[in-house]
Amino acid sequence: MAGPPAPRAFHVMSKPTGAICNLDCDYCFFLSKESLYPGSSFRMADDVLRAYVAQLLAAHRGADEVVVAFQGGEPTLMGTGFFRRVVELERQLAAPGQRVLNTVQTNATLVDDEMAAFFAENGFLVGVSIDGPREMHDAYRVDKGGKPTYDRVVQGLRTLQRHRVDWNALTTINAANADHGLEVYRFLRDELGAQYIQLIPIVERVTPELLPLAEAGWGARAGERPLYQQSGDVVTSRSVGAEQYGQFLVEVFEEWARRDVGDVFVPFFDTALAHWLGMHQAGACVHAQVCGEALALEHNGDLYSCDHYVEPAHRLGNLAEGRTLLEMVDSPQQKAFGRAKLDTLPQYCRACDVRFACNGGCPKDRFLTTPDGEPGLHYLCAGYQRFFRHVDQPMQVMAGLLRNGRDATGLRRWFASRDAARDEGAACPCGRPAPFARCHGGGPRPGAAP
Ligand code: SF4
Ligand code: SF4
Repeated sequence: MAGPPAPRAFHVMSKPTGAICNLDCDYCFFLSKESLYPGSSFRMADDVLRAYVAQLLAAHRGADEVVVAFQGGEPTLMGTGFFRRVVELERQLAAPGQRVLNTVQTNATLVDDEMAAFFAENGFLVGVSIDGPREMHDAYRVDKGGKPTYDRVVQGLRTLQRHRVDWNALTTINAANADHGLEVYRFLRDELGAQYIQLIPIVERVTPELLPLAEAGWGARAGERPLYQQSGDVVTSRSVGAEQYGQFLVEVFEEWARRDVGDVFVPFFDTALAHWLGMHQAGACVHAQVCGEALALEHNGDLYSCDHYVEPAHRLGNLAEGRTLLEMVDSPQQKAFGRAKLDTLPQYCRACDVRFACNGGCPKDRFLTTPDGEPGLHYLCAGYQRFFRHVDQPMQVMAGLLRNGRDATGLRRWFASRDAARDEGAACPCGRPAPFARCHGGGPRPGAAP
């Protein structure tokens, strides 16, 4: 007899304050989404929160764990009381034995002892947005008055650490830090103590007409700022370049692979490894064959196909309109959204040697034309090719170790034996114009545990 159907694996990023944030990061297109809800209080009401938690938990009965995610805007603007209520509702609504993980993505500037203690007590996983050392972080991550935020972010992070909250770093790769992959990674690992590092490229795609406004940043400029939508074929000066992105990832990988495999987690690398192991839907949606299982929930209960498509055309419905969360996730509209990622892949990608790992990237950034004139090539293609080709051999080594029942940390020894034979005056394999000894050969002893 067949067992119960497998629970649907989908992820919802909820936005309890909508687009409202206490900061005004220049590249944050999401700030402009405020204009979708004129006159709103931008606070998730209790009935919306209850419906969200109840339906999410119900849809994941039988799963190992359900993730209840809060993002923004800035979710900590809701205060600790809101998160207390979340936990209270989860206790009421969870099935016996159902495991719930709450996650909060925050700029950390509003985290105080009370909030940190609550997060620690209740096992919240907190993502802290930080873009690297002070001067790189402060390039774009500023407050409403344009003032730098580095000190406030680090203070919030130290509060989380003092209370032993599980946290991870979310670092964008942008024009200000993109040429410093190794420095950014070492800073996150060594100065901040990050053991989980999420890397997100900044690609602010706009139309040529919108470019001058976009260059001024997406923060509050009443009446003047349009709603950000995924269209256009130019990018702002804050965006990372394609080759820059590839080089950044190579620099991080060369360090991580030598010293940190098994101790520091970089989801981008885990996703790549999954693809080398033949698991083509594993890891980040951006490199999956199809997507559509990472949705966004606005403060008023509106559900959108994806966090990057909070636009009227991609609104699936509202939790109060009668259809359940699961019905909207399973709707033909959402299925078509996810399937389009594969269906619109240009021939150039279909024939690409690293397509198995890349899958054409996120559709939101596919606005280049292929060399043979077909539209729909990803803006970061050159960087993807550089990175995925560069890591082919070590990825094969890791995949081989795992297939043989060993753990992937053996990659450190593989690098150590190759480095032992390396002339330290020779150019660093990362491609930077520096000798190995002063680039990836520097720092902690290769192969040693950190
Ligand atoms: S559109 Fe992009 S970010 Fe959104 S679910 Fe698809 S791949 Fe992921
Ligand atoms: S690397 Fe470029 S050509 Fe290859 S699949 Fe990715 S976007 Fe397409």
